Amino acid sequence: MIRDLVKDEAILSQVCEKATPEDADLAQDLIDTARSLDDCSCLAANQIGQTKAVAIYIDDDDVAHVLYNPKVLMGIRPTRVVEGCMTRDEYSKVTRYAKVKVTYDELVDGEFKQRRRDFTGWIAQMIQHMVDHCNGKLV
Ligand SMILES: [Zn+2]
Repeated sequence: MIRDLVKDEAILSQVCEKATPEDADLAQDLIDTARSLDDCSCLAANQIGQTKAVAIYIDDDDVAHVLYNPKVLMGIRPTRVVEGCMTRDEYSKVTRYAKVKVTYDELVDGEFKQRRRDFTGWIAQMIQHMVDHCNGKLV
């Protein structure tokens, strides 16, 4: 279901609770909401008002991916970049790694399976932005 974006910093600055397999509907709402917006390729649950550690991103082939409880384990090649955010009016200057090692849960047959994967480039940048949202980091 398409949800309204939430720009309330009191909600966006909360550290999100751990997601559970019951959050599958929330993940679908994130995908539906992201697809309903122009230029929205990633979204975290608190951006639609749910403080759960769930995020989605849409890749260059228009495939949506769900990350439950994503964490960045390590990153290499930090660079300063200017980044926009769907729930923030101004652009922000942040440090992002060109390559990151990430753990997250994937929902498989109703249960979480923990994954560990490397991401690079644009996808790595989106995931770092999403992990910040899950940690209640505003910029
Ligand atoms: Zn954002």
